[in-house]
Parts: sequence; structure tokens; C-alpha cells
Amino acid sequence: MVWEPWTGCYPVSAGCKYCYYYGLYSKRYGQNNIVKTDDFYKPIETIYMPRKKITKYRIESGKIVFTCFTTDFFLPEADQWRVEAWDMIRKRSDLTFLFLTKRIDRFKISLPDDWKDGYENVRIGCSIEDQESADKRLPLYLSFPIKHKFIVCSPLIGEIDLSSYLQGIESVRAYGEAGKEARECDFKWILNLHEQCKSAKVQFDFVSTGRNFRHNGELKKINPYIQRKTARQLLPSDDGNADIQFE
Ligand code: SF4
Repeated sequence: MVWEPWTGCYPVSAGCKYCYYYGLYSKRYGQNNIVKTDDFYKPIETIYMPRKKITKYRIESGKIVFTCFTTDFFLPEADQWRVEAWDMIRKRSDLTFLFLTKRIDRFKISLPDDWKDGYENVRIGCSIEDQESADKRLPLYLSFPIKHKFIVCSPLIGEIDLSSYLQGIESVRAYGEAGKEARECDFKWILNLHEQCKSAKVQFDFVSTGRNFRHNGELKKINPYIQRKTARQLLPSDDGNADIQFE
């Protein structure tokens, strides 16, 4: 279940350079404008069931709601809309809201008053792409009160040492960059991340090779249709603690 209360974005760091939602797609669909969507009230939309004579929420209880995947939940342009978004998230405590951000530095100023040590039904993932973004965002991320924490390396464009940032992290996921202009992803970096996670007993998933993938020193172009499958074949998922599948 996807919820895009607003759409549009703009780059914040090197990882954004070829972002699908900022680049071509945004030009075609005018997504450089940050706008509220028609789906804004989706979590609290109801339907009437004439036979049973009851009104119920359109989104059934227990679902995971993937939120703001074509934008960033913490965009400053969305500050005024976010207040209502938090109200809906609070109201639908029977759903799990999951989002990623490259703007974790805006966490504190974007919170509702009653956040305290975090809402149980909110999972916020910190998105990083290289060592520079890891060193900048992860110390902040680890210091914030969030009930469920996970790291997403997307797009992975350099080797990252995460070993000092894994305490309290539930999982790490890694994606090579997609698209024609993609920067390369080296399988050595993936294996290295996997080892770091193993040592820290954190679940690791290699989700996608991306377009330009270096394997055993050789750079290969991977067809978009098999990027995920190839990643799974090279490094099957650690499924020990997996409770959420993004795809
Ligand atoms: S923050 Fe995310 S959605 Fe926004 S431009 Fe960067 S990669 Fe794209």
C-alpha cells in the first residue's frame, strides 16, 4: 500500500544526482513542483458498505503504508501539510507507516508535539549513499527517538564503513543505482557491508545490482529486469529477522 500525500523533490546530496523522481520523470510530470496530491487524505478515507450498513476505512487494518516514496517526508516545503499527515498517522495506529529520508537533519523540527520516544506505528529509514552521507546523517539518526530504525544504502555509489553506526539498527538494505547514467556499484562493497552487518547481528539485504555492476573486477551492464534477481542470486537474503519486504 502506497501513500504519496505530496510529490516532487530536489537534490540534497550526491545520491540524488540521477534520482528518478527528480530527473526525467519529474520533468515529464512536472514533479519539480512540490505539490499536495489528491491522495492526501487516503489513510482516513472511508467507504460505506450498504449490506452491512457500516462505514469502514478504505485501507484495511494491519497494512504497511509505504509513504512518500516519490518525495521526502521531511521536505521544508511540506512543513504545513505534515501537521495533518501526523494527525492521520496517529489516528491510524492500526497501520504501519514506513518512509525513508535523506533529510534526517530536519527530524526534530518536523515532529508532532506528542512524539516523545516515537510512535510505535512509524518506521523511519535513513537513506545514505556513500561514506560522506553516512558520517553526516547517521550520528544524528542514531541520536533521535525513533522506535524502528533501518538504513538504506541507495544508490550505493561508494564503499561505506557502517560498523560504528549499527547499534539499534534493525536492518540494512543496499541498492545499486538504476538508469542509463548510473554510477557503478562494486560487489566488493556489498560483501563488505554484509560482513559488517553479520558482525553486528543486523539483517542485511542486497536488493538490486543497479545498472553498472562490478563483479570480480569486471564491469557489467545489468538489464533492469534482472537487477533484483541477480542481487538475490549473488547474495541470498538474510531472512532471520525480516518482517518487511519493500517490493
Ligand atoms: S531526496 Fe530522494 S526523492 Fe529527493 S531528489 Fe534525493 S533521492 Fe530523489
